[in-house]
Amino acid sequence: MTSSVGDRIRAQDGHLHVPEHVIIPFIEGDGVGPDIWAASQRVFDAAVQRCHGTSRSVVWKEILAGEKAFKETGEWLPQETLDAIKEHVVAIKGPLTTPVGKGFRSLNVSIRQILDLYACIRPVRWLKGVPAPVKHPERMNVVIFRENTEDVYAGYEWPSGSEEARDLMEFLRIRLGVGLREDTALGLKPMSKWGSKRLIRKAIRYSLERKRRSVTLVHKGNIMKYTEGAFRDWGYELAREEFASGTVSEDDLYSEYEGKVPPGKVVVKDRIADNMLQQLLTRTEEYDVLAMPNLNGDYFSDAAAAQVGGLGMAPGANIGDTTAVFEATHGTAPKYTGMDKVNPCSLILSGVMMFEYLGWQEVADTVVSAVEETISQGIVTYDLARMLEGAKEVKTSAFADAVIGNMDKA
Ligand code: NAP
Repeated sequence: MTSSVGDRIRAQDGHLHVPEHVIIPFIEGDGVGPDIWAASQRVFDAAVQRCHGTSRSVVWKEILAGEKAFKETGEWLPQETLDAIKEHVVAIKGPLTTPVGKGFRSLNVSIRQILDLYACIRPVRWLKGVPAPVKHPERMNVVIFRENTEDVYAGYEWPSGSEEARDLMEFLRIRLGVGLREDTALGLKPMSKWGSKRLIRKAIRYSLERKRRSVTLVHKGNIMKYTEGAFRDWGYELAREEFASGTVSEDDLYSEYEGKVPPGKVVVKDRIADNMLQQLLTRTEEYDVLAMPNLNGDYFSDAAAAQVGGLGMAPGANIGDTTAVFEATHGTAPKYTGMDKVNPCSLILSGVMMFEYLGWQEVADTVVSAVEETISQGIVTYDLARMLEGAKEVKTSAFADAVIGNMDKA
């Protein structure tokens, strides 16, 4: 939609008020970003138009970050961009290059931390027709809630031999009696009760609202008792204190309800991370919503996505109390820049999450059905073509054309 007329989303008391003609800021991204953004935007506009005619539309507002921002403003992440996301509440982005040695660890991490988008949410489920490495990819339907601001992503670490590492080791030796080798590098793993609880709260609320079956707290608490173990304990505590009528712990399920989930209740359980990784493969259908600290979430998101077709198909969102940035989960794939070649599905499906967040469910469903139909017809980009016998390999833009064509057929 090219019209410049539109309104902002307003957030009030944790609720979104979405106008019929809504302004959404977008960052097209670096590398393959412009190709996948152009394809995705056409798919989104076609779906909105198909579902709502002229009564609803998205008015896209470009905001700058990454290489394009640097070329035009001399800054990698202009304040104006952060302000626009805050002001418009919801935004969507392509992948961004991480400038090496330019003062940013990662632009993506900076956006998440500056805007306090504390939950990284990744739904992982199989779409019809997508080639996958397991026999029953259809058994996977999980939503991962990964803490986004603490744990190892807080970024407190010091190199071996640095003055900071030496000072900290001295403190540890004198005050806590901890002896370490002189050439040790050090990192901190901060995890707060407050930060963990707000992430788990979001996961439980989501499960209750969407009538999901369970929330599994995934941790390594057998070894890291006061960080990962506490994450588990805080999760059960939160469920008891704030969601007593909506949840039941796995222990109570067996001691009080003979293993039968009372209607309307979400089961809260926990699993140790290494066990959970194999359970996701062997007992996939027993898991539903998963809540976990940052590093566990990093590993699980990609491992789970691989089971149902890989990162090219994996959508994601970073969400705070109300502000949300939806994004392709893969990087800029620089060797394919400008080739109109890569799979736009990660960004398209992130858009699906965005429309669900806006409450435009029909638009979200229309896009998913059309993507499934297209892939089932064997029309795919190079990445899926190499795994799919008899596939018709197409370019990014042609894939979008086919998806739009399949909306018209439905
Ligand atoms: P990458 O860009 O994700 O690409 C790695 C490989 O994944 C590609 O060579 C390609 O595999 C495959 N791939 C990625 N996107 C694809 C798509 N849409 N369709 C099909 N295949 C796709 O990872 P990277 O090369 O490690 O990182 C490049 C840059 O991206 C770095 O600057 C990094 O910091 C940044 N990055 C940004 C984000 C983000 O913005 N959220 C995330 C990760 C990395 P084949 O070679 O097998 O074809």
